[in-house]
Amino acid sequence: MLGAIEAGGTKFVLAVGNHSGEILDKIVIPTEHPDKTVPKVIDYFKDKKIERLGLGGFGPIDINQDSPTYGQLQKTPKSDWVDYPLGAILQEKLAVSVVIDTDVNVAAMSEAKFGNATDVNSCLYITVGTGIGAGAYYHGQTLKGLSHPEMGHIKVRRHPEDTYKGACPYHDDCLEGLAAGPALEKRWGKKGDQLADLSQVWEMEAYYLAQALTNYIYILSPERIILGGGVMKQKQLFPLIRQNVIEMLNGYVSSPYLTKDKIDEYIVPPGLTDEAGIKGALHLVME
Ligand code: ADP
Ligand code: ZN
Repeated sequence: MLGAIEAGGTKFVLAVGNHSGEILDKIVIPTEHPDKTVPKVIDYFKDKKIERLGLGGFGPIDINQDSPTYGQLQKTPKSDWVDYPLGAILQEKLAVSVVIDTDVNVAAMSEAKFGNATDVNSCLYITVGTGIGAGAYYHGQTLKGLSHPEMGHIKVRRHPEDTYKGACPYHDDCLEGLAAGPALEKRWGKKGDQLADLSQVWEMEAYYLAQALTNYIYILSPERIILGGGVMKQKQLFPLIRQNVIEMLNGYVSSPYLTKDKIDEYIVPPGLTDEAGIKGALHLVME
């Protein structure tokens, strides 16, 4: 028996599964103050006889296994959780080893193992929601280094008609500051789901996201790019982003997937919905 946790900003999913990756039992609890949420987590797992525990969590979080603060949350906007040593507490209270990665890295792995990237050896998973974050999967592993990648905070060129200052508390007009859900709401005065009919909104959004994807393609050369998160429910974004990416690359990277004929198979929505996070977390401890 293996344990898995998907730790999100609004809910925690707790599950036990087997070595083949099947989820055998699952519950959902709200994300509250850690003093409320964490005892519920411990309570759930304490009699389940788990051998190991995998956790895909919101960040920033220390995912460096050699670090003395492995599994500790960092400058997260969820202030109750800043510096909370989640990994160490779970390890101590449950007496099992805990393997931790970011929610987006785990989602990338899940898409590679069970979702829309099972036929390739690498993929990026990008969420465009309250923030923008991306995870990367390459040949069996997720991408990490000094810390985990922070692909949402890259610099992008401003759209000529965009006068909005940007919403990132650290950088103002980084990608997340210009293109995540809260930026849409502040720039246009309505939440994203109420802006569906305004083509100007989605053309600007696609311009920003396509710049980011173009940079990721140059730097990481992923074999597939998966776009998820609340904002990507606006399905009209997909063709706009694909078209912009082709124009921005301008034929420089040679691949059949970066052409008008095949880019629909390259920039895709997630294949997994409900269980992507929790299955990816389980996968962290399967091997
Ligand atoms: P989170 O990032 O918090 O995990 P989501 O991925 O659902 O959650 O993203 C929430 C953001 O996405 C909010 O800013 C919300 O306004 C925006 N959003 C949710 N649904 C839609 C939609 N259908 N169209 C456009 N934007 C949406
Ligand atoms: Zn930023």
